Amino acid sequence: MTRFCIYCGREDSPDNPVINGVCLECRIKRGEIVILEKNELWIEFCKVCGSVKIGYKWIETRGFADAINHIVENIVPVITKPGPGVSNIHVDSYELVTSASWRTVIRVYFKGLYGSKEFKVPKDVVVYLKPTKCPRCKMIESGEFEAVLQIRDVNKRELEKYLEKLFSRDKRLVRDLVDYIESSNGVDIYFYNHGAARKLARRLSSIMGLEYKENYEVAGMRSGKQRARLYISLKPSAESH
Ligand SMILES: [Zn+2]
Ligand SMILES: [Zn+2]
Repeated sequence: MTRFCIYCGREDSPDNPVINGVCLECRIKRGEIVILEKNELWIEFCKVCGSVKIGYKWIETRGFADAINHIVENIVPVITKPGPGVSNIHVDSYELVTSASWRTVIRVYFKGLYGSKEFKVPKDVVVYLKPTKCPRCKMIESGEFEAVLQIRDVNKRELEKYLEKLFSRDKRLVRDLVDYIESSNGVDIYFYNHGAARKLARRLSSIMGLEYKENYEVAGMRSGKQRARLYISLKPSAESH
C-alpha cells in the first residue's frame, strides 16, 4: 500500500516523503516542521559593557551583533523542538532582518531530516535586549574594591596555571578577591584591599618575570579618611622582548 498525503493527495516519494499521513511540503506549509517554544526572546544586556545573560552566565560581547550571535548559538537551540517525523534538527545559519539593536528580527534557517529527506526552513524570531547592568559593572560602579591588578601581554594559559596555584595556597587571597575579569589583552583582578593585590602581584612578578608598577587614584572619602585606589600593572619587561 502506498502512503499518500491527507492534505494534497500526493504519494510518498524520496523527494517528498509522507510520514503520519502528511508529506514534507505540506508539513512545511502548515508550519509544523520546526516548533519554536517562543517567537520572542527577552535577554538581559548590560548597557555598560555589552555582556549578555545566557542562562546563569554573563558573556562579554563586542556589541549588539555579537550578542545576537551568542543568542542564536546558545538560546535558539534550547527553544527549538522538532515537528512530527522530524529528526536531527539544528540551526544552519541566520540573517538579520532588521539591523542589530535593542529589538532585532532575525531569520534562522533550520536543517533537519523528515524521514530520510533533508530540509531547510526559515523561522523568524524577535530578540529584545533588556537594558540592565551586569553584576561586574555594578561592582565597578559601586566602587567596592580598593585595588586592581592589571596583567597585560602574557600567555593566558600560563597565567591561569600560576594563579590557580597561588590562590589554592593562600586562602586569604581568595577571601580578599572581588572579581576576575578577562579582557581581550589581559586580565583585571579586583581586590577588597591593597595588601592582597600587592602580595599576589609581587609573587606573579617574580615567578613570571613581569615588570611591577603602582599607581593611585583618589576614590573619595571613607569614614573621614581619603581613600586611594591602588592600580598595579604587570607586564613583560621591555628587555625580555
Ligand atoms: Zn501534502
Ligand atoms: Zn557590564
